[in-house]
Amino acid sequence: MFELQPLVRKNIWKLEPYSCARDEFKGVNASTFLDANENPYNNYVNRYPDPLQEKVKEMISPIKGVPVPNIFLGNGSDEAIDLVYRIFCTPGVDNVVAMSPTYGMYKVCADINDVYYRTVELDEQFQITAKRILEACDKRTKVVWLCSPNNPTGNDINRDEMVRLLEVFRGIVVVDEAYSDFSNQRPLRLDLDKYPNLIVLNTLSKAWGGAAIRLGMAFASTDIIALFNKVKYPYNVNKLSQEKAMELLRNQSEYRQHLVMVLEEREKLMNAFISLPVCKKIYPTAANFFLVRVTDANAIYRYLVEQGIVVRNRNRVTLCENCLRITIGTKAENSALLSALIKYKQ
Ligand SMILES: *Cc1c(COP(=O)(O)O)cnc(C)c1O
Repeated sequence: MFELQPLVRKNIWKLEPYSCARDEFKGVNASTFLDANENPYNNYVNRYPDPLQEKVKEMISPIKGVPVPNIFLGNGSDEAIDLVYRIFCTPGVDNVVAMSPTYGMYKVCADINDVYYRTVELDEQFQITAKRILEACDKRTKVVWLCSPNNPTGNDINRDEMVRLLEVFRGIVVVDEAYSDFSNQRPLRLDLDKYPNLIVLNTLSKAWGGAAIRLGMAFASTDIIALFNKVKYPYNVNKLSQEKAMELLRNQSEYRQHLVMVLEEREKLMNAFISLPVCKKIYPTAANFFLVRVTDANAIYRYLVEQGIVVRNRNRVTLCENCLRITIGTKAENSALLSALIKYKQ
């Protein structure tokens, strides 16, 4: 039996959350709202937004195959990442385990919340086993962070190993699936009902083209979602973002077209990279970017910046020496990158 309560910080379990005006009155027949000290003159933004973003969640639910009560929405995935620490990890006492290299925000949020951050290095295939992660865990390990497809390496993490960890580890397992739209591996969010300790992160920032509106998602058991809702700011997703999110989600054909184009361009760009003199190794990817080992990452990075092209220099990241992370752009942007690299003098 999985027990949630022992994993939750005592103050959070006991917390009596702030009850905002829009929480207290949930009726449908009112037309006169004198409860929230708002300006009564309609200018489109004079009223507080829906604190639980029900309409957005109703659109996300069929797209993601996750029931509405299992969805939390935040100001980017970054909000959900921070909330995981604030809900589960006692500062100065608890620890989390993450693979390395991976997305930098897990560590930054650990540092901000004064939570010990332990790492398990990926192997040469950028993979991890449940066994090695469990070896890094102890009684005070509340959370394990996984990211699949992983950033900055781009590969899917072995699904059987993630499932084994979910089955054996008694703490929370967060699987960040920010890039799962680009991958063929079955996302873990579709198996939420099997794993009461699973939290899956998604975002509108990548495949959905909504990075500017800051809309992140967490999928989990209703008990975990209730904790997120208790700790979040009352109106954490503003009205403009909620409206724009619904517009993006309504336009599924555009989403699919963009996805197909990015995948085609990824194939073409990676094939072209193989024959570039600067290219030493291309790593397989399941995301909208790829990692490439080059002859001299710092020099090539600087050269590209001079040409007005910015890629991500990962040279200083463990296992990524001399690696650049390249986001797939438009056809024109990818050609610009290629012609610049063809002209590069070693
Ligand atoms: C880009 C990215 C996100 C998205 O974060 P947002 O705050 O939703 O924009 C989350 N996780 C990973 C691994 C990412 O690379």
